[in-house]
Amino acid sequence: MSSSVPDTFKGFAISSSKTWNEPKLVSYKRKPILSTDVVVKNICCGVCASDVHTVRESWAPIQRDDLVVGHEIVGHVVEVGDDVKTIKVGDRIGIGASTSACGECRRCKSDNENYCAKVVSTYNAPDSFSDGYITQGGYASHSIASEKFCFPIPEKLDSHVAAPLMCAGLTVYSPLVRIIGHLSHPVVAVVGIGGLGHLALQFAKALGAEVYAFSRGSSKKADALSLGADGFIATQEEDGWEEKYQDKFDLVLNCASGADDFPVEKYLQTLAVGGTLHSAGLPPSDETFSVHPMSFLLNFSSLSSSHLGSKKEALDMLKLSADKGIKPLIQEIPITAKGAGEALTKCDNNDVRYRFVLTDFEKAFA
Ligand code: NDP
Ligand code: ZN
Repeated sequence: MSSSVPDTFKGFAISSSKTWNEPKLVSYKRKPILSTDVVVKNICCGVCASDVHTVRESWAPIQRDDLVVGHEIVGHVVEVGDDVKTIKVGDRIGIGASTSACGECRRCKSDNENYCAKVVSTYNAPDSFSDGYITQGGYASHSIASEKFCFPIPEKLDSHVAAPLMCAGLTVYSPLVRIIGHLSHPVVAVVGIGGLGHLALQFAKALGAEVYAFSRGSSKKADALSLGADGFIATQEEDGWEEKYQDKFDLVLNCASGADDFPVEKYLQTLAVGGTLHSAGLPPSDETFSVHPMSFLLNFSSLSSSHLGSKKEALDMLKLSADKGIKPLIQEIPITAKGAGEALTKCDNNDVRYRFVLTDFEKAFA
């Protein structure tokens, strides 16, 4: 294969959880380019709470001392491997929170490649298809992902607006479609109105649901209603909501990044018979849900979670977004060591309405 692609990429890296919000500009050796891979020159990257969980080591240790996070990437393709069929140099594509999978197992062959046992996370994960290379994310000059994890961006969607759809958008779209997609008049509650949650309100509405926003306080009420919510509940300011909304929801979609003050039993009480409490939100490892089986028996309810979505779902989601004008509300920050640090800090402090997108990559990585 020809190589216009440099052997080293540049990115803003974290060396340790002690300095989790002090990224530094580094160069690092890229992973090998496989025949199924697509190489992208990055335009921008969204900032997900998972980036914060990772650099703070809330879930697992950091795997390298120059870790670049970021998995809401949009860029232009600069090279493709010989076996890439549907993507060509010059295309504008997005990459989300995974970059490859085996392609051969039952899950890969049934549009569930996001659940492949060998799926590789975009950053801080050993890539078993590239000699255990520890993956690097999108606060970087370039990214590499296999074709199955590259999503062409519809022309109508601006790159900065498309970026948060790669992780936040897909992560809420997938469970919405899988859990309430077959219902004619679903009623959905979205808990935690952040990056994922504010997109979940819009996608649930676009899929025909009656939608309620649950936030801890009332400061996001006007935004939630303008994004399509039919009702708003400030859980820490209102008493008795679990009784008021008893038997109401087919789906409670949790999008909260933490689990302090997450009253599982109360949310279960709001479910209709056969309803689901689904947690797309992934709190730090030491914050768990504690619930007795008895809590599910009164309404045949269930508790579940999910990991991102498939490429098929990503393409459907992007088409729906382009057709219906669904957009994240974004705050743009030019990518620099200071800018990336500020975005991580503010995301950690809940000081974001509703997604930071790091921009101006051309300048930072010139
Ligand atoms: P944001 O920080 O943008 O939003 C999270 C929201 O959760 C906040 O706006 C707030 O909502 C609520 N919240 C924050 N802290 C707490 C807390 N300690 N206890 C309860 N609620 C809290 O996060 P994202 O939307 O980027 O991510 C949400 C979660 O989803 C994260 O855990 C992330 O790691 C996870 N995630 C999971 C994926 C998957 O595949 N399952 C993929 C991507 C992300 P409010 O103010 O309305 O209460
Ligand atoms: Zn994410």
